[in-house]
Amino acid sequence: MTDLYSVLPDDVDKLVTSIGQPRYRADQLLHMLYREFPKDMSDMRQIPSEMKKALASAGYTIGSANEVHRVVSEDGQTTKLLLKLCDGTLIETVLMQYRKGNSHPRSTICVSTQVGCQMGCTFCATGQMGFERNLKAEEIVAQVLHFASVLQERKEHVTNIVFMGMGEPLANYAETIRAVRLLTHARAFGLGQRHITISTVGVMKGIDRLAEEDLQIGLAISLHAPNDELRRKLVPTAGPHSVKDLISATRIYFKKTGRRVTLEYALIEGVNDSPEIAAELATLLKGNGAHVNLIPVNPTAGGFKRPRWKRITEFEHVLRESDVNCTVRVEKGSEISAACGQLRTDVVKNL
Ligand code: SAH
Ligand code: SF4
Repeated sequence: MTDLYSVLPDDVDKLVTSIGQPRYRADQLLHMLYREFPKDMSDMRQIPSEMKKALASAGYTIGSANEVHRVVSEDGQTTKLLLKLCDGTLIETVLMQYRKGNSHPRSTICVSTQVGCQMGCTFCATGQMGFERNLKAEEIVAQVLHFASVLQERKEHVTNIVFMGMGEPLANYAETIRAVRLLTHARAFGLGQRHITISTVGVMKGIDRLAEEDLQIGLAISLHAPNDELRRKLVPTAGPHSVKDLISATRIYFKKTGRRVTLEYALIEGVNDSPEIAAELATLLKGNGAHVNLIPVNPTAGGFKRPRWKRITEFEHVLRESDVNCTVRVEKGSEISAACGQLRTDVVKNL
């Protein structure tokens, strides 16, 4: 069985011709899939039943992601969903909205790319969960479409997508990129490439490959420490020279794509939040042009705590003094733990 949501538009053209249908049916099919969000074949009323039968006998289907749980933050701006995939797997997806006056809200979807994660970051709930499996491109797309259909009912729409949910996107490279292509293709979901950001813990091969793709998507790198000794305490799977490698990766990515990389830094009390460490980070990044996002850590089972506010602003001050561009944001939706301590709004706001 092949999910129709895994097929790129050019291949939909070929598929439609191969089952003896005229070319315009491909456009119709794509329109149904990406604008009307059918749950299964029978929902596609505009498509003639003989074509649906032909698609089904050629092994095509529409997979679904069913909502099994929904939590909304007190201010109504953050919605976290638990979605159940065809095989019963449960994944988390979050919607974060920002409203300014009466204008259309900015609606960012935070998608998962894996069930669990192999990277084992010590402060991350997903990392501590272990690894179950990679998600397929259509399962990543389904997360966006589920929210797109919720938003459509309110006459709103998806404005941004961040790959910052469960898992490491660049460790599931092919399916992640396929999802990006489906989500940005003008004949599929059609979101502007610049409205998508991938966050990585630093899979070097993946960053290199991404810089070579003809894509204009944003990249965020989770740095968390200015030196390897400290970084490897937080990201045990990091290479021995990961800090230096990541800093040079930011330059390469910028050179190839013209897009500045964001560095994410989870601030953890007594671990990586001292003024000395801030100074070391400032020296490392001075003149680099990168933007640092300071994220007070979401407490997880590991016993890591968020620093006091004064400590956070001191850290920020040290970076600013050295002209290192940085922002710190208090999370929204933390009371609904959106989600597993990592699907946060603060990073997103500045991308
Ligand atoms: N695997 C990728 C993307 C998913 S995690 C990555 O690590 O970048 C997305 C972001 O959430 C990362 O910056 C990660 O460091 C951060 N994160 C994970 N656990 C967190 C926690 N408990 N509090 C705050 N941020 C967290
Ligand atoms: Fe994986 Fe990212 Fe969590 Fe690290 S922070 S364990 S890379 S999801």
